[in-house]
Amino acid sequence: MEKQGERVQQQRVVMVVYPFHGHISPMIHLATFLHSKGFSITIVHPQFNSPDPSSHPEFTFLAIPDKLLESGVSNWNFTGIALTLNRNCAAPLQNCVEQMLLQNPDENIVGIIYDTVMFFAQSVADHLKVPGISVRTSAAATILAFSVFPSPHGEGYISFQDYISGDGIQDPQSFSIKQLLASLPENPTNSTELRIALTRETKKASAIIVNTMDFLEREALAKIREQFSPSIFTIGPLHKLAPTGSASRLKEDSSCISWLNKQAPKSVVYVSFGSLAAMDEEDLVNTAWGLANSDQPFLWVVRPGSVRGSEWIEYLPKTFHERVGERGNIVRWAPQKKVLEHSAVGAFWSHCGWNSTLESISEGVPLLCKPLFGDQMLNSRYICNIWKVGLELEKGKIAEAPWQHGRDLRQHPKRLTVA
Ligand code: UDP
Repeated sequence: MEKQGERVQQQRVVMVVYPFHGHISPMIHLATFLHSKGFSITIVHPQFNSPDPSSHPEFTFLAIPDKLLESGVSNWNFTGIALTLNRNCAAPLQNCVEQMLLQNPDENIVGIIYDTVMFFAQSVADHLKVPGISVRTSAAATILAFSVFPSPHGEGYISFQDYISGDGIQDPQSFSIKQLLASLPENPTNSTELRIALTRETKKASAIIVNTMDFLEREALAKIREQFSPSIFTIGPLHKLAPTGSASRLKEDSSCISWLNKQAPKSVVYVSFGSLAAMDEEDLVNTAWGLANSDQPFLWVVRPGSVRGSEWIEYLPKTFHERVGERGNIVRWAPQKKVLEHSAVGAFWSHCGWNSTLESISEGVPLLCKPLFGDQMLNSRYICNIWKVGLELEKGKIAEAPWQHGRDLRQHPKRLTVA
């Protein structure tokens, strides 16, 4: 029992985020959960793409220098950004944590929880002799995909093609895992360094947390548990574990909820391609006419700056606006989780980012899949071929979308609810 006058040690968790919305958002949910259990939280982030600290006054946000500007890496070179952050941020993180300990002698840092991509944080945790916990914000199968390509110069190298065809593998993966990995684009050589380092460092973590559920990825998880010694905890979907606002600097347009309130149950197609994807004028116009011709009401997120060569939706012709009238609602950024929970929403036309995937299946909303890059291909395979809760749109074939079969979109295809 605490004696009078005795100082109470505050338990603090340091969380290190990878500075992209789809990675920060699940970490904020995890932070919210830990905060609710009595931990103080410090979110450490690079200067690049910093989150909005005002949205979570209960946490301390600290920026560390990342020297990204000096490195000349472009904003879209995710591999380059990840490698540069890992090269440049270890010393600043260590410095930052040591300052925290000096300034707050009553505090005890109980661990460093970091995005798997920010694996430099493990060496800082090791130095401070505290547990380092790696958080995979994408599907567990992506950990497996990273780990199957050791160095092309080292012993036991397996090329992507050999891996997929099963040649040279004594213990070939099961069909569905192979199928999933085959859906990842062939990784360019320049990401080999990242994959090797990421796999090596993830194996050093005290534990791995994945924003997934066992029943969604049983096979991939079993393989990872064979190959990785740290304990794996599947505590997803994080947005349901600890619902909270994001730390995005994009302002949510909540007026779309009043618009949804006026629509028939399960009739609306919600369209969003996430926080990163960009499109050109032709994609924008084709998407627009697909929606117009569907004759369904739709809510469409077009992020400012996401259409190349324009500020927002200037390329949309007047005839489109005249045709759809009140049936269509285009917003810059939506409160997506609330939208997907809304009874008026019947389908989600999505790029299949992992957060969007989990948010959609949590509400039993079937997906129309338009994967664009990276793990979105894998997620789309899961959705369409394994869980069978969505359809992949072939280029120019929007006419085959489920709304062709009737107004109640959620009857097509199968529904899967995880929450
Ligand atoms: N999102 C949102 N409003 C929007 C569009 C997206 O809040 O108008 C959120 C969405 O709920 C999800 C995240 O942005 O949590 C997108 O993450 P995802 O992994 O799906 O894709 P990424 O942005 O990483 O490509």
